[in-house]
Amino acid sequence: MSGLYLHIPFCKQACSYCDFYFVTRTSEREHFVQRLIEEVQEYRDTKFIDEEVETIYFGGGTPSLLEPKQVEQILQAIEQVFEVDAREITFEMNPDDVNKEFLGSLKSVGINRASMGVQSFQPELLEFMNRAHSSDEALRCLELLSQSRFESYTVDLIYGNPGETKEQLNDDLNRLLQFNPPHVSAYSLTVEPKTRLGKMVDLGRIAPPKDDRVAEQFDLVNEQLNEQGIERYEVSNYARSGREAVHNSRYWEHHNYVGFGPGAHSFWWGDQAIRWENKRNLRGYLRDRNLREEEQLSYEQLAEERIMMGLRTAKGIGFEELSQKYHYQLNDRQQKYLKKVAEEGKATVDDRIKLTDKGIKLADAIILDLVTLH
Ligand code: SF4
Repeated sequence: MSGLYLHIPFCKQACSYCDFYFVTRTSEREHFVQRLIEEVQEYRDTKFIDEEVETIYFGGGTPSLLEPKQVEQILQAIEQVFEVDAREITFEMNPDDVNKEFLGSLKSVGINRASMGVQSFQPELLEFMNRAHSSDEALRCLELLSQSRFESYTVDLIYGNPGETKEQLNDDLNRLLQFNPPHVSAYSLTVEPKTRLGKMVDLGRIAPPKDDRVAEQFDLVNEQLNEQGIERYEVSNYARSGREAVHNSRYWEHHNYVGFGPGAHSFWWGDQAIRWENKRNLRGYLRDRNLREEEQLSYEQLAEERIMMGLRTAKGIGFEELSQKYHYQLNDRQQKYLKKVAEEGKATVDDRIKLTDKGIKLADAIILDLVTLH
């Protein structure tokens, strides 16, 4: 079973924290859709169509800048090339693009999961993040979504903005929880170097939030969502039972997937494991078909990736999987380190390693220590 990812590289404006690949000129949308369809067709007669497609994900960028008709054309092209039995077809959207008719049309062309980029309901934080939508638009959109025919949906929130208070986050969570969402992705703001936010931090215009403050906000998110039965299954992802995102969970488990569009990544583990990335260049993508960078991955690299992704999930990672699928054995130093981490209450270790609530906040540091001891 494989997954397909479609990168739609258009945005109305640049959010201050974002380092995904996108352009703000949207006039090339139709040309892009035709090129994307050609890229899908190029996979005909390759080994990448051998596995049945279980999930499809429209990400970006802003997929909701496409017309439903264009989405339908893309899905039809996929079905002509791949064998599709998709249990989940997710579509990312921004509140300012959505109305009842748009949601209904997407549902009719086959989308069954919506992903709404709300990030916050606080006007000053939306302005700081340079989001294109208002707080009212986000609320109206969630109302539409909760009344829509979508079987599932998810809402993105960002916390840990510089200057963000606990009260503001609490208010965001309360507003969100009124809608009883089946799935929430809550990310702590990261400062990426080439973004507007990164530049402001470099120039000393703003100070990034302190770690202890972010940790406090993480606890608040965790508590509030857990109380409503929306449980954390990955460091930034929370769901009601049975509503976990299938597509993203497959990435964490090294399932095969193919990405289309500029900047999209693909991963395929057949005789060998390979990953490739389409270059982050729309002009080039529209002109040239072979702008890909490919790398082969060793068992050691794969095992490290699996540890990194697995330890961020509530399921953790099993020793048997590590040794059988990845030919990876933990050495004495790693075992000693894990024992210490478990004694400190940051992990549980039996036939699997799982980080606790205390450990998950330090996931990046624990993972780094663990893999560098190999
Ligand atoms: S966060 Fe989303 S909408 Fe904002 S610039 Fe990035 S991809 Fe575009």
